[in-house]
Amino acid sequence: MNFLTALVTFENLHEVRRLCHWGPVIALTVIAVCSSMAILDSIIWYWPLDTTGGSFNFIMLINWSVLILYNYFNAMFVGPGYIPLGWKPEKEEDTKYLQFCRMCQGYKAPRSHHCRKCNRCVMKMDHHCPWINNCCGHQNHAYFTSFLLLAPLGCSHAAFIFIMTMYTQLYERISFGWSTVKIDMSAVRRFQPIMPFSVPAFAATLFALGLALGTTIAVGMLFFIQMKVILRNKTSVEAWIEEKAKDRIQYYQTGEEFIFPYDLGRRWENFKQVFTWSGSPEGDGIQWPIHAKCHQHTLTIEQLKQKADKRVRSQIQYRVVEDYNGACCPLSKGLNTFFRTPCTEEPRIGLHKGETILATRGTKWWMYGDKVLDDEQTKAGARLRGWFPRRCVEKCHYDTAVTSAMTSETSSEEKKVK
Ligand SMILES: [Zn+2]
Ligand SMILES: [Zn+2]
Repeated sequence: MNFLTALVTFENLHEVRRLCHWGPVIALTVIAVCSSMAILDSIIWYWPLDTTGGSFNFIMLINWSVLILYNYFNAMFVGPGYIPLGWKPEKEEDTKYLQFCRMCQGYKAPRSHHCRKCNRCVMKMDHHCPWINNCCGHQNHAYFTSFLLLAPLGCSHAAFIFIMTMYTQLYERISFGWSTVKIDMSAVRRFQPIMPFSVPAFAATLFALGLALGTTIAVGMLFFIQMKVILRNKTSVEAWIEEKAKDRIQYYQTGEEFIFPYDLGRRWENFKQVFTWSGSPEGDGIQWPIHAKCHQHTLTIEQLKQKADKRVRSQIQYRVVEDYNGACCPLSKGLNTFFRTPCTEEPRIGLHKGETILATRGTKWWMYGDKVLDDEQTKAGARLRGWFPRRCVEKCHYDTAVTSAMTSETSSEEKKVK
């Protein structure tokens, strides 16, 4: 009984609820289907114990499955690291450089942002990822990125097994269409498969191949995006703050030079902040190493300036120049827009030429914002907010006045800040 309670009082047990969500359910199903099919195919149609290649192949498959699950569960259960509720900086006077989070009843430490899904302020928040049903941030950045690297590697290996299995079962040898290049499969054939390939087995392998190839492409793209974040030490949220900083400085012609404070200048230095031998990242998630010309609050002061700026508030105004139908992965907006669709549950909004959008954040290929509605719709309390491809909009010239649609919201936000 004591043993049971010891198991049940596992510290992060409440985190198990994160599994009850479509993201982890789909992700774990894909991992389970691909790895079990690859292992099954290897055992039945490429017996691992008779050849060195077969043994190596089998060990690698187990290896991928273990490493992928290890990093996946750590990304989910270790979590991004949350700012303690009611947190305030050590020095009382530093509070004037920081924003206050009403939900957490504490100050927002540099680089932290409040996540509505997690309902906490998250250390070095990058984004809330539905696939791990948790935020990607300070503590789990390395686990998350390792998962993004290992999943495509494991899936490519599985895809290779599926293709080889189907080929060896369907043909005596593989010919690539020209007579000189032939792969001799006699070594494989020598070991009779435990059972001949049946139609359901073929269908299951083909299905698993589709899953494995899809995962390789989709997750591989996400890996490159996260590596960019790590090598520049700049999260996607911070990239947007920097963009707004440049916009603000250009508009007011203040002559300030904005230097992003957390990029340590060398990629290797930035890399070492996230990936360490101990597995946990450098630092406590509150104090950060910074560029020589900056100080701890360079970015938070910029955020406060942006908040105080009545013109942009937190938005930049855009005009729609290209229609968009609201599809998650639109086919006609280019490959990057297709593959780099934001990995969130937030909605997409359709656009029509000539409409105006107030964007609140964005990535290189997508933006998130509110559509400016006409007076009638605004009075009725309608609101259209979501993601759209960046190529469909164009930044407005500064002479356009900020529309009334947003003034009601911004003034209420202003009160909140005060
Ligand atoms: Zn918060
Ligand atoms: Zn979150």
